[in-house]
Amino acid sequence: MNDTSGGMFIDKPRSLYVHIPFCRSICPYCDFPKVLLSTGFNKDYVSALLKEDERYRGYGFDTIFLGGGTPSALGGEQLKELLGELTKRHGRPKEMTVECNPEDVDLPFAKALREAGVNRVSLGVQTVDDGYLRKLGRNHTFAKALQAVGFLHEVGIDNLSADFIYALPGQTIADVKKDLDGVDQFRYLTHVSFYALQVEKHTMFYIQGVKTPDSDTLADMYELINRELARKGFLRYEVSNFAKPGYECQHNLCYWHDDPYAAIGMGATSYENGVREVRNRDIVSYMKGAYVLRREAENAQTREFNFLMLNLRLAKGFALSEFTRRFHKDFLVSYAANIAKVSQSLIVDRQRVRVKPEYLYVLDEVLVDLLNFNGVK
Ligand code: SF4
Repeated sequence: MNDTSGGMFIDKPRSLYVHIPFCRSICPYCDFPKVLLSTGFNKDYVSALLKEDERYRGYGFDTIFLGGGTPSALGGEQLKELLGELTKRHGRPKEMTVECNPEDVDLPFAKALREAGVNRVSLGVQTVDDGYLRKLGRNHTFAKALQAVGFLHEVGIDNLSADFIYALPGQTIADVKKDLDGVDQFRYLTHVSFYALQVEKHTMFYIQGVKTPDSDTLADMYELINRELARKGFLRYEVSNFAKPGYECQHNLCYWHDDPYAAIGMGATSYENGVREVRNRDIVSYMKGAYVLRREAENAQTREFNFLMLNLRLAKGFALSEFTRRFHKDFLVSYAANIAKVSQSLIVDRQRVRVKPEYLYVLDEVLVDLLNFNGVK
């Protein structure tokens, strides 16, 4: 289908994001849309989700991703019901991921996920240091996280990812090394994410004036993470994401490729026909049916900006032919002046454009120069 506003070729979404906002407690650094599980809204919320999903009737998805919040806080039976209905409507996706917190994962829960067709779990490990886990307000220990991975592996879910956070207040290079050594102890991981802590406004850490390590230390930490994970066979395929070959997260690749995606749930954003729809962050309004808060139609220039900004996060970058397919022009011609400005940080061959590995850490600076639209034809 051709759209009318930007001249770009648009496909139908092949990925569905489902937001589960419930958490047992609120972490002091968290800026995600969330509510306490103790509000007791979960049953009505799941009904509202399925109601909103009716707009996607007839869509088939390659990936379904339940993120949060804490999807595992719903418990195995409720997740089975939700996923059972979604897969009845949309078919079994190739990749079905559920984000889990370690304290929710016991053997019956792992079995319920498996029975629901889940074949990928992303576990919020954060760090192997129990002292830091307490400071981060987490409800698990390193031992519990190890046990959770063991249960998931035991039931046959063998695509297992762990999320880590670094740049914690007071954290040293040696602490990060300890987390990296911890990756080995999980034994069954196929994918690891390492995100630098951002102290976002309106969080408890922000109010408390929490400071992260200085920028030189951060750069050293990132370098160590990249080097050590590569040594363990986890290859960086996106700025903060590392996978064993063949285990890259297909759902997240959809975002980084700037492909369209469907979404349901409080605070979630979908992207279809060049329009981003941002959903209500107020759970009561959402459950009453006020799903979408605002619609942002992107103009052609914003689409180009987003395409480049997202695709250049990937180690592989983007194919020149894909840029031409979407925007009906030659990237190397249109961006010639800007490419010259950042030539030391880009690899441009006849087929693809990507950021040199050593510049991925300063990607934002590269993008500022490359995406300066002045002078772009
Ligand atoms: S970090 Fe995760 S578990 Fe903690 S409050 Fe945020 S969404 Fe909930």
